[in-house]
Amino acid sequence: MLLNVKNLKAQIDGKQILKGLSLQINAGEVHAIMGPNGSGKSSLSKIISGHAGYEVTEGEIEYEINFKMKNLFELEPHERAQEGIFLGFQYPVEVPGVTNMMLLFESYNAIMLRQGVEPMAQDEFNKVVQQKAEFLGIKEDYLYRGVNVGFSGGEKKRNEILQLLVLNPRLAFLDEIDSGLDIDALKVVSKGVNFFKNKNNAVVLVTHYQRLLDYIKPDFVHVLSDGQIKVSGGMELVHKLEKQGYDWL
Ligand code: ADP
Ligand code: MG
Repeated sequence: MLLNVKNLKAQIDGKQILKGLSLQINAGEVHAIMGPNGSGKSSLSKIISGHAGYEVTEGEIEYEINFKMKNLFELEPHERAQEGIFLGFQYPVEVPGVTNMMLLFESYNAIMLRQGVEPMAQDEFNKVVQQKAEFLGIKEDYLYRGVNVGFSGGEKKRNEILQLLVLNPRLAFLDEIDSGLDIDALKVVSKGVNFFKNKNNAVVLVTHYQRLLDYIKPDFVHVLSDGQIKVSGGMELVHKLEKQGYDWL
């Protein structure tokens, strides 16, 4: 198992958000998490990546490192990233003054350092990134601009996928990666995720829409509502939600 979330309860500013959430993820799997606005989907991603502000009041999260399940809460946020946990943000942040390439280079080498692998030289790294950017239809000059500065919504989402492909995590949480995308951008983002996924990693897609899941086929679909996973299944669940909404839950 790669990730084991057990009866997780968490609050922020005294407000209970997660109310006993359990979720198991194995390498090689794609999971989709759907659910009404405000149900706790982004909170779950943020708690896993180590976002400050949430207080975990009960339950645990275990993450596999070197074939052993470890208590995730013992790792600092940057250590989680170094151990292969990646969060694609619902609202990617702009970082003026730090170029896209600089961020990728520093992040990549921080991961390599932790894994005990020699860092890559800058020119060699630039070539790798340029090739991946081309695959995603990202123009070269975007690599040397401030991270996400002046990027359109669709360009920001493509840029999240560029980070995914360059950093090559083991567990990728993609929070509403499809929101605000036109059909061409959706196809590019899906192509990137499909290229990324393999038997050694896992992808969690938070989404409201079936159309993303027509391009990236999930093995499991979960409905998160009021801080808990109420029901899990396969694509049939997505079809049911498209037709009936969340009222039946
Ligand atoms: P989702 O991604 O499923 O739409 P979120 O995880 O973003 O839901 O939010 C879950 C709930 O937590 C919402 O009711 C939201 O208002 C609340 N929430 C999120 N962040 C904060 C915060 N900093 N302070 C208070 N409430 C918050
Ligand atoms: Mg959200």
